Amino acid sequence: MTETRRQTAFAGLDHPPAWPATRGRPRPSALDAPLDSLDGVGVTLKRRLAKLGLETIRDLLEHAPHRYEAAADEVSIAQLRGDDEVVVSGEVLNVTSRKLRGRRTIVTARISDGTATISAAWFNQPWIEKQLKPGARVRLRGKNGRYGFDVKSYDLGEVHNTSDFAPVYPAAEEIPAKTVRRVVESALPHVSDYFDPLPAELREREGMPLKRDALAALHKPASEAEAEIGRERLAFDELLMLQVAIASRASARARTLAPSLGQPGDLMARYRKALPFALTPYQEQAIREIDEDLARTMPMNRLLQGDVGSGKTVVALYALLRAVENGRQGALMAPTMTLAEQHFLTIADLCFELGVTCTLLTGASKKAVLAADVVVGTHALIQEGVELRDLAVAVVDEQHRFGVEQRKALAEGRGPHELHMTATPIPRTLALTVYGDLAVSTIAKAPASRKPVITTWIGEERVSEAYTRLARLLREGRQAYVVCPLIEQSETNAARAAEAEAERLQRGELRDFRVGCLHGRLRPDARRDLMARFKAGEIDVLVATTVIEVGVDVANATVMIVQEADRFGLAQLHQLRGRVGRGAEQSFCVLVSRAKEELTESGRQRLEALVESNDGFVLAERDLEIRNTGELLGVRQSGASELRFASLKRDRALLERARSAAMDATIESQSLERVNSDPDPS
Ligand code: ADP
Ligand code: MG
Repeated sequence: MTETRRQTAFAGLDHPPAWPATRGRPRPSALDAPLDSLDGVGVTLKRRLAKLGLETIRDLLEHAPHRYEAAADEVSIAQLRGDDEVVVSGEVLNVTSRKLRGRRTIVTARISDGTATISAAWFNQPWIEKQLKPGARVRLRGKNGRYGFDVKSYDLGEVHNTSDFAPVYPAAEEIPAKTVRRVVESALPHVSDYFDPLPAELREREGMPLKRDALAALHKPASEAEAEIGRERLAFDELLMLQVAIASRASARARTLAPSLGQPGDLMARYRKALPFALTPYQEQAIREIDEDLARTMPMNRLLQGDVGSGKTVVALYALLRAVENGRQGALMAPTMTLAEQHFLTIADLCFELGVTCTLLTGASKKAVLAADVVVGTHALIQEGVELRDLAVAVVDEQHRFGVEQRKALAEGRGPHELHMTATPIPRTLALTVYGDLAVSTIAKAPASRKPVITTWIGEERVSEAYTRLARLLREGRQAYVVCPLIEQSETNAARAAEAEAERLQRGELRDFRVGCLHGRLRPDARRDLMARFKAGEIDVLVATTVIEVGVDVANATVMIVQEADRFGLAQLHQLRGRVGRGAEQSFCVLVSRAKEELTESGRQRLEALVESNDGFVLAERDLEIRNTGELLGVRQSGASELRFASLKRDRALLERARSAAMDATIESQSLERVNSDPDPS
């Protein structure tokens, strides 16, 4: 293979716009054919598969099984005991369904095989009720559980599962895992349409199978080991793309110029004096690191991580003022307008005291921005069409909310120095790999005065006790937050649900208190007004969506109740908890979940971890241990959440391999003329 061809093969990876969006392909391929081009897929099944996000043959072939079923013993119902996974067959006698607490449905069927009967249970699959007709033959795989025989998978009719080792795909309403398995199998011959994106030399050096063989092994392995070899190859591709994107960003940055801001001067001395406290050693260390970066002409690209309340904002403002003392501008970008406003309120007074002009950028105020020393706004407002006079330092808050695209946009051209702040600490391995191009400053300890929040976890059957205790604290003059269940579909739905919950609490448990409702659909002035009233103590309880996750700062609010806490991620819960514990009084966080027995193992572990630790760094490591997927919070939108085959927990070694392959490729591509050809020949 010539150098040029290798370059071309890599170009598909070394092409940031194609990453992390793995779907949009420049050239039509047989793999992009719709699923009804497969035998046995009609209009209805096509529509149902689309609900799983499966629309093309490629989607289907890249739909990873979430586990494999090994052979299980087939037993008669009379023999059923213990809690080993087994297979039983029998006839449906009757079927019922009901709702459990916490809105889960359970479908129960009495099944007899002549030796005995069992009650088989399906959770959260209400459609199963219609499929199970009395008299029907079923074959069930599962084990004894709390509600009877807990069904893991099932076949209807006189089927005999021929394969002892079979993939199990994530199922959805109306599509049994079995159907997905059948359709994937019919698509499997199309693996030969895959172009292999890895140069042969690299693939051989890494001992990886061809992509088409890897996909075949993933879907139809002879053994778990074979499936793992296939998965590993696909995981390697994903991690390599991640690393190539990082390496090319880093090399682009190395070629970008930023203004050197020299050494800190008089303004910085005045800033330190204006602060009502001395900086902690961690803050001092972070500031030293930032000053070193700012003295260079290569743009700073630093992550400032520290737990909620550790004092990052003070450090961020320092960096912004370094731009101002050089006659340039600083911008502070927040993920939402609410947060931008809160930042603005925090820093505006200090800026005023120092004679520095500070503007909150709203949709309407774009003109004023040209002149201000420090501009605060959402990243969208600052990046889209606002002409800053001379931006030298950009602080990006809650870095994990920003996708790679945005960070890239910031980094392109004449770069400002960038400081990314996050309260979601990133375990060291990840910092070095996923964020390989970021330098990291860590504020490991908060200013000493904070009292650790006492966290308890209760099942929802005990929620009234929590409100009773809350009422007592409210009567003592404290304030509280109640966070509503996570609603992901839309901000509007979340807002509606929060309003309904606020009303319900106002009429019920909290009838003696003043309840307000904070959500992302409030107009900015209404939101400001609400926050001001809460801060002034005119509202006792703020019922809120996760918009309060970051930034809200009311020292007298000492209780945080999180409803359906099991639906939140660990880092998010830790963030929410950070809203309390900000004053001298003891604070409490109450995590309310479904009945504890009904939780998944990882749900239980998450909530236990929060009860046990207040330390964001400990929790971040724990989070990595608990999770199996790449959906680690904090890297959620960095592209790592796009990982379908790789697991950041399991594949650390593979990540290192991908990292060095990506570095090699990037160094190599820099020493060659760029070949500007079709980036993806597949
Ligand atoms: P973060 O942004 O990391 O959540 P903040 O910068 O908002 O933390 O700081 C949390 C609180 O601690 C603020 O009220 C801030 O004024 C205060 N604070 C920051 N640094 C110090 C310090 N060195 N000593 C005492 N209080 C501090
Ligand atoms: Mg803060």
